[in-house]
Amino acid sequence: MPFQDLPARLAEVQARINLARERGGHGQTVTIVAVTKTYGSDAPVAAWDAGIRDVGENRVQEALTKMMEVSVPIRWHLIGHLQRNKVKQLDGLHLIHSMDSPRLADALDVHGRDRARPMDALLQVNVSGEGSKGGYEPSDVAAEARRLHGMEGVRVRGVMTMAPFDADEMMLRRVFGGARRTAEALRDAGHDALVLSMGMSGDYEIAVEEGATLVRLGTVLFGARSA
Ligand SMILES: *Cc1c(COP(=O)(O)O)cnc(C)c1O
Repeated sequence: MPFQDLPARLAEVQARINLARERGGHGQTVTIVAVTKTYGSDAPVAAWDAGIRDVGENRVQEALTKMMEVSVPIRWHLIGHLQRNKVKQLDGLHLIHSMDSPRLADALDVHGRDRARPMDALLQVNVSGEGSKGGYEPSDVAAEARRLHGMEGVRVRGVMTMAPFDADEMMLRRVFGGARRTAEALRDAGHDALVLSMGMSGDYEIAVEEGATLVRLGTVLFGARSA
């Protein structure tokens, strides 16, 4: 059976999340987004069978393929960089975590108005300032939040961030705490921005302590990726 360890791995992760929630004291609900990139379509199905309802992919084509092959009603999340010319293909998605520029926000807005139903998205913020990471600078978020508030085609539901790969605990808290504060800036501008997508296999406990509501977990659930 593929991913036969998944139920036990999931139980352990959920126990760790509950403890981290209590330590953090933010009182949030935490939802696991199972990241199935590079695995086959049996991964989202195994996740569903284990009780997971949210699945994330980082590439549009791979997401669309799995969405076609999988029949259970998963909520699909796009967590990787999105090119503007692919926005129209994303109607089946539940949430786009990677709105990382004003130009992409504009494209989402146009498409949301065209289809007469707004696109739900998270503002990706680059808190660490790493050059290799996309996203808004935290200092740009307040002005962009005011601009986005006028848009009918996109609904900003919160913030997504990634910590540097080798970050120590202090850096992780700085990044995740910074993301939490940018979500506050969105709410100050009138957005219903309650989602904080942060934390991966290596750092999700600290992310939950810092208020994460969505954790994006791949290897800790499915084992090492070969690709
Ligand atoms: C791959 C990926 C994850 C999951 O990574 P793991 O370390 O396997 O948990 C989370 N978020 C993004 C944006 C990713 O690309």
